[in-house]
Amino acid sequence: MSVCAKTQDSAPDGQFMQRVLAALTMCLILLLSSVIGSISNSSDVEANALPEEMDPQPSGARAYDNLENFIDGSYRIIDSDANKDRRAWIKSELEIDGFEVEEQSFSTDECSECMNIVATLPGKNTDSWIVVGAHHDAICYSPPPLIGVTYPTCRSQGAYDDGTGVANLLELARVMKAWEYVPEHTWKFAFWDYEEWQGSSSSEGGGKGSLHFVETVPEGVDVATYINLDMFGLNWPLTPPNLPTCSEDFFTLYLFASPIEDWSYYTDRDLNVTEHMRTDAARLQSQLKEILHQHLDYPVEWVTVVDDTKGNSDHYNFIQGGYASVWIRGMHEYILEEGDTCEQTIKHAQTDNLVTLRTYAGGQDELQQGFQTALNALAMFGWWDMNVSHGLGPSTFNENSGAVSGWGAGWLWFLIIPLIAVPVVWLARSPEPEILMAEQEMVAELLDGVEEFDASTSTG
Ligand SMILES: [Zn+2]
Repeated sequence: MSVCAKTQDSAPDGQFMQRVLAALTMCLILLLSSVIGSISNSSDVEANALPEEMDPQPSGARAYDNLENFIDGSYRIIDSDANKDRRAWIKSELEIDGFEVEEQSFSTDECSECMNIVATLPGKNTDSWIVVGAHHDAICYSPPPLIGVTYPTCRSQGAYDDGTGVANLLELARVMKAWEYVPEHTWKFAFWDYEEWQGSSSSEGGGKGSLHFVETVPEGVDVATYINLDMFGLNWPLTPPNLPTCSEDFFTLYLFASPIEDWSYYTDRDLNVTEHMRTDAARLQSQLKEILHQHLDYPVEWVTVVDDTKGNSDHYNFIQGGYASVWIRGMHEYILEEGDTCEQTIKHAQTDNLVTLRTYAGGQDELQQGFQTALNALAMFGWWDMNVSHGLGPSTFNENSGAVSGWGAGWLWFLIIPLIAVPVVWLARSPEPEILMAEQEMVAELLDGVEEFDASTSTG
C-alpha cells in the first residue's frame, strides 16, 4: 500500500499524469497477482493449527489405528455375530476412556437384536444435547448397475462405510473426555446399528438405529446439534494418485447441513419447517463456516458447507425430528453425479477395505491427513462448547469475512475496480480553469479549518 500512496509529489502536469498512471498500473498488477495467486494456490493452503492449550489434540494416526482394529473381524451386517462382537469392542474402548456407556437395544421386522452404543459426556445443561454419531453396521451389494442386490457370499469390511466414521468418533470422544472440562451442552457419542438398507428384498428401509434414538429423546430434552460421520478421509488435503476412475475433483470434504435455501427433500417427506428450524439451521451453518474458514482457515472450495438435499444417512432422522444437523462426508456421488465411478467402486462393495482406502488416498499417511481435516473441525466444535473463555465464543461469522480467504475473493473486485477506476478517470480528465480555481479555494478553506482545529485542541 505504501507504494501506491507515494506518488503525490509535485511535478509538471504531463509528467505528473504519466507517473500517476504508471503507479496505478503497477498497483493494479500487484493486486491482480496477489488475488490470482491466492486462488490458484488454495489447494496447497496450510490450515491453521489447533489452539496450543487444547491438550490432547485429536490424531488422524490414532483414528487410523482405530479403523484397523475395528474392521478386524468380518462382515458387520445386522444381527450377525460380527456386528455384536464389534459393537462390544466399541463399548469396551469407550469404557477404557472412562465413559459411562449405554446399550440401546431395539428390534424391527428385519433385526431382532439390534443395538446402539451411546457414551455420555455430561454438560452444565443436561436438557440440551449435542449428539455426534456414526453407524457400526455394514452392507454388501452386487456392483452397479444392479442396485441393492445382496447374495450369500457377498462380504464387505465396511472400512469406508462406515469404519471411517466409527474410528474418528472414538478419537473425538477420547480427546474430549481427556480435556476434563465440563461442556455447556451434554454430549452424546452414538454408534448406530442398522443404518444400511438391507437390499431390494428387504421389507423396510434403513436408518433404524438413529430413528430409535430420535424417537426416545426424553420429554423436555432438546438436541441442539446432530453431527453425522459417515464416509470421509478421502478428502483434502491429500493429493490422490492418478486413478483412472477417480479424479481429484471428487476429494472435497462436504458438510451437508440443515438447509437454508432448499428444504424440498424434507418438505416432500412431510416435514413442517418451522421458523425455529430455519433460525437453527442458519445458526449451525454459520458456526460451521466460522470454525472451518476463520479459525482453521480451510479453503472454501475443498471443505464446503452446503444445504443437505438428499437425506441418505442418519442425519435424516434428526432433521425430520426438528433438530439442526450436519453430515460430514468425503467424496460424494450426488455432487458430481455424472460419471461418478469413484465412490461407487468402494461403497457397499466387496472392495470396501483398508487396502482400497490406502490406494485411493495415495498411502496411509495421506488417509490420516484426510481424517485430520474433519477431526480438527470436530475438536474445535467441542472446544468451543467447553471454552467460551479460551477465545472461542458465540458465532461472529458473516459471509463476507469468511469469503475473503478463498474462492469468494471474486466479490472484492466490486470494491477494487471502482477504487482504481474513479481516481484514474478523475485525474485523467483535464479540468476547466474555473473548476480548478474552485477546488483550490476549497482546499485552502479546509486547510484554514484544520489549523483552527489544531489551535483550539492543543491548548492546555
Ligand atoms: Zn454409511
